[in-house]
Amino acid sequence: MKIGETIYLDYQATTPPDKRVVAAMAQYFGEAFGNPHASDNLIGWQAAQAVDDAATRVGKLLGADTDEIVFTSGATEANNLALLGLGRRASRGMRRRILVSAIEHKSVLEVCRVLREQHGYRVESVPVDAAGIVDIVALKNALASDVLAVSINAVNNEIGTVQDIPALSKVIKATGALFHCDAAQAPCAIDLRNVCDFVDLLSLSSHKMYGPQGIGALYIRRELQDEIEPLIYGGGQQRNLRSGTVPLALCVGMGIAATLLVEAEEERVLLRRRRDRFVRHLTELPWPVVLNGPDSRQRHPGNANVRFDGFDAHELLSALQPRIAASMGSACTSGIAQPSHVLRAIGLTGEEAEASIRFSFGRNTTDAELDEAVNLVEKALAALATGIARRLA
Ligand code: PMP
Repeated sequence: MKIGETIYLDYQATTPPDKRVVAAMAQYFGEAFGNPHASDNLIGWQAAQAVDDAATRVGKLLGADTDEIVFTSGATEANNLALLGLGRRASRGMRRRILVSAIEHKSVLEVCRVLREQHGYRVESVPVDAAGIVDIVALKNALASDVLAVSINAVNNEIGTVQDIPALSKVIKATGALFHCDAAQAPCAIDLRNVCDFVDLLSLSSHKMYGPQGIGALYIRRELQDEIEPLIYGGGQQRNLRSGTVPLALCVGMGIAATLLVEAEEERVLLRRRRDRFVRHLTELPWPVVLNGPDSRQRHPGNANVRFDGFDAHELLSALQPRIAASMGSACTSGIAQPSHVLRAIGLTGEEAEASIRFSFGRNTTDAELDEAVNLVEKALAALATGIARRLA
């Protein structure tokens, strides 16, 4: 996908909304604008029906029932509702520890900081290997009857590592701890149709799956719904778990986006092939170019986190403007002058992390664009190397 002269390679920051999603939403910005919680008239009933249908669609993506889906503003809110909601309700219980992987998103790590500082929980980090796979032995050793919850992302947002959710679930459930999974990056990467057999809580973000921005969802296993303290109080909408009028058009859009990804294996195979070709071409350049993280099979098919040893990723990205849109680490941490905690956790030095760029691809990426991107990167590296040589001379 090109936006003007820019090749868009930042799908893990946000995906362009699918045309079918936009088309489905249009009528809800028009005549079908009703309040889904207006229960006394037909317009409200019709809106409620559309929201219900959207929740059913999101549920089908995950193997969950309609009444196990709570719409939120995004995965950040879903992660907050899951962990803070659980932690606040359980604050007088015997389970006082929370385990998280070392490569969680900031919206999980920051919530855990609050649980530690304000609610007295002990939060422990579970290490990952060089591919970003959670160390299951370390997890097993850390688990005990005092662990309230474990939070592990299904697919990492920086290096694309895909975790083995059934295997993790088995060890977590054996101790009675709850399993929260941040699956914001998962719908484009893996088939999620039976994921709810293995997790208790699961977060999604619509704009990472070709849906609109401003909406996400939290799956909450039915039996667990009384154990979650809401973040937002008010009219008691969404079974008292998240008060406030749900955004009808956005719900509809997320629902359609979910349906488009239920059976998307062919799309993933194509994407993986395209990504692997891009990585091969990049690593064949006459520069020290290395792929960070897992191999092709254990990785989001649209993720390539690439290290340009000896170069500064900020400088490289700015040399690539306006021709390539890619990111250093996650968009949410960009701007913070600290090497990525994810890259550090898989064993990179600070300098190596600062030399790394995340390219991410999707539904509208073409081989021709990726060939052009490789050429642009090659030119930018040559130009920067000349500049570096001059500076050193
Ligand atoms: N978790 C992961 C793994 C993510 O990649 C993101 C978005 N970068 C989030 C949570 C937060 O999503 P949102 O910004 O849509 O709330």
